[in-house]
Amino acid sequence: MFPFRYAKAADEQSALRAAAAGARFIAGGTMLVDLMRETVERPDALVDINALPYSSIDVQPGKIYAGSLVRMSDLAAHPVVRQQIPMIGQALELSASAQLRNMASIGGNLLQRTRCLYFRDVSAACNRRIPGAGCSAIEGRNRTHAILGTSQHCIATHPSDLAVALVALDAVVVARDTSGERRIPLADLFRRPVDSAHQEHNLRPGELIVAIEVPVGPEARRSGYVKVRDRASYEFALASAAVALDIGAGIIRSARVAVGGVGTVPWRLPAVEGALRGRPPNADVFRGAAALAADGAKPLHENGFKVELLKRTVERQLATVATMP
Ligand code: SF4
Repeated sequence: MFPFRYAKAADEQSALRAAAAGARFIAGGTMLVDLMRETVERPDALVDINALPYSSIDVQPGKIYAGSLVRMSDLAAHPVVRQQIPMIGQALELSASAQLRNMASIGGNLLQRTRCLYFRDVSAACNRRIPGAGCSAIEGRNRTHAILGTSQHCIATHPSDLAVALVALDAVVVARDTSGERRIPLADLFRRPVDSAHQEHNLRPGELIVAIEVPVGPEARRSGYVKVRDRASYEFALASAAVALDIGAGIIRSARVAVGGVGTVPWRLPAVEGALRGRPPNADVFRGAAALAADGAKPLHENGFKVELLKRTVERQLATVATMP
């Protein structure tokens, strides 16, 4: 370990001032402490934000407003979330382990860093750790890596299951810094590695996510999340799918579909949604729509299997969600 300064923020302004001066926010610490132990991250100063008032879940007309310090397990267990947006509770409960879910905040979950093994190995070349260093995964071990949204800069997947469900639902994050507050659609928060890999999101330096707003639309109640992985718990997705369907009079009135484990960011599938809209919810329609799920995929030498796996995962989840009451 290396020396660093640590302070507990008593209020929001002191936390934001500390961050403006270069301190890193720490809440549950389930990712940052690991990365500091491995010297992947070496912050000079940490500001602990656990005392800030961002731990409530408020059910409002047409939306759920969750503070960024809400623990993953608390959001998953909330009765209104479970009843009105089942895919959120499912995505959370398929994440990490029970101990980590009790500790990790939902804001931190969205901003967690990639699980690429080269990112966590400080002896390997990695553009996310050191801009311009190169990407060891492109010619190396890339079975678990992305097939969508990749570039020569980086092919790592985004690791959050919750983010996939929230992107499908058009959730918004509320962020603050010393200059004020702004709202960012979650789909605009994450950055693909277009020109570089080290900038993973569009928050400004020192900006803090204070809440997540989730619209509760007509599709939310009939929704679900499926995760395909190498073992049944405590494992990241090879492919996952968040699906929500509004079905009435024998027709899919609207659909929301996003996937994880395959993209450099949580990946929305508008072409799949379009192929479902206005069609009857049957196996042929699901298969035809899911066939579009991997459009644009660029598999590498170890992860070509993800193309078919992704299509089948989406098809399976469409069929599962369509039979929900
Ligand atoms: Fe680093 Fe991304 Fe390449 Fe992994 S895939 S080694 S995180 S640049």
